[in-house]
Amino acid sequence: MSLWKSVLITGCSRGIGLQLVKELANSNGRPATIIATARNPAASTALQDLSKTYAGLHIITLDVSSEKSISSASEEVLSIVGSAGLNCLINNAAIGFPTNISNVTPEAMMANFQVNTVAPLFVTKAFMPLLQTAATRSSGMGLHRAAVINMSSVLGSITLNFGDGANFRSYAYRTSKAALNMVTRCLAADLESSGILCMSLHPGWVRTDMGGPYADLTVEESVSGILSVLFSLNEQNHGGFLDYRGENLQC
Ligand code: NDP
Repeated sequence: MSLWKSVLITGCSRGIGLQLVKELANSNGRPATIIATARNPAASTALQDLSKTYAGLHIITLDVSSEKSISSASEEVLSIVGSAGLNCLINNAAIGFPTNISNVTPEAMMANFQVNTVAPLFVTKAFMPLLQTAATRSSGMGLHRAAVINMSSVLGSITLNFGDGANFRSYAYRTSKAALNMVTRCLAADLESSGILCMSLHPGWVRTDMGGPYADLTVEESVSGILSVLFSLNEQNHGGFLDYRGENLQC
């Protein structure tokens, strides 16, 4: 029997989100219900193809930066998961581009903050009742109960933004992910009494549109690591910041 019944992932049109859906759909530990969201699902042929192959895979529209879209997606998800609630929310969708001291603009700062920091908080708020419902059905902490996974980045680590760690210059992306790590910690404090595990995860430097062609990892390598980490989560990881190998990172 599977550890968990349901998962919802944001930003599944391509990259890590799409690969998470693919691997989960194929894995032994697959939940019965996989809800893959994208802001324009019709534009992702790969996602559409997957939905034809796997029963239990639902594709719904979710633009994480739109309150209206979040609200209609949460109603749709309720009709899918019903009284079982939602076991896991993966806030994966993000934008990112280099913004150095010369070319950073207020607009770039706000755009990154909107999608990478504010959206995961409000998506989580919208799905909180469904996570709480799932959490009442079990004990302990982990995927078997309820979890919020915020896809962060080592680039959001303030501690590591020195020396080689400071090579990638992006005021907008780095600050948005540092703030996301704080969102995770605040959620961890608020949702602990409900038994909902909250953590930040760094997927490694991955060859996607965002990571670029010279990144260290293929998307398959990253996602295989991410899934091992997810499957082993427990109370000790609540409020934590792990990478795709399960190593602790400093915020
Ligand atoms: P990609 O750029 O390949 O994919 C980003 C995804 O986010 C796309 O599906 C995109 O959808 C979606 N997205 C962007 N804005 C929105 C929105 N407003 N609403 C809904 N979906 C949206 O990125 P990756 O797959 O590489 O990154 C996934 C996660 O991993 C991100 O959180 C990223 O910050 C993090 N990460 C990635 C690293 C890497 O090296 N790749 C390193 C560290 C962290 P659309 O197709 O519609 O644009």
